[in-house]
Amino acid sequence: MKKSLSKYCGECQKDFVPGEIVYFTWLENHSFCGNCKRKLVLINDWETRQIPKRGEEI
Ligand SMILES: [Zn+2]
Repeated sequence: MKKSLSKYCGECQKDFVPGEIVYFTWLENHSFCGNCKRKLVLINDWETRQIPKRGEEI
């Protein structure tokens, strides 16, 4: 799984936690948390990414 370079959600601005699975879309060029992904129903082109765990190389 690709690592996310984003540190926070593009919709609710919530900081991602290490190891969290987030959802990236090129349509917005940003990553979103699971809650916000569910609200963005018009977007169907998602890529699942993981927030690096502490000390993990990207
Ligand atoms: Zn969010």
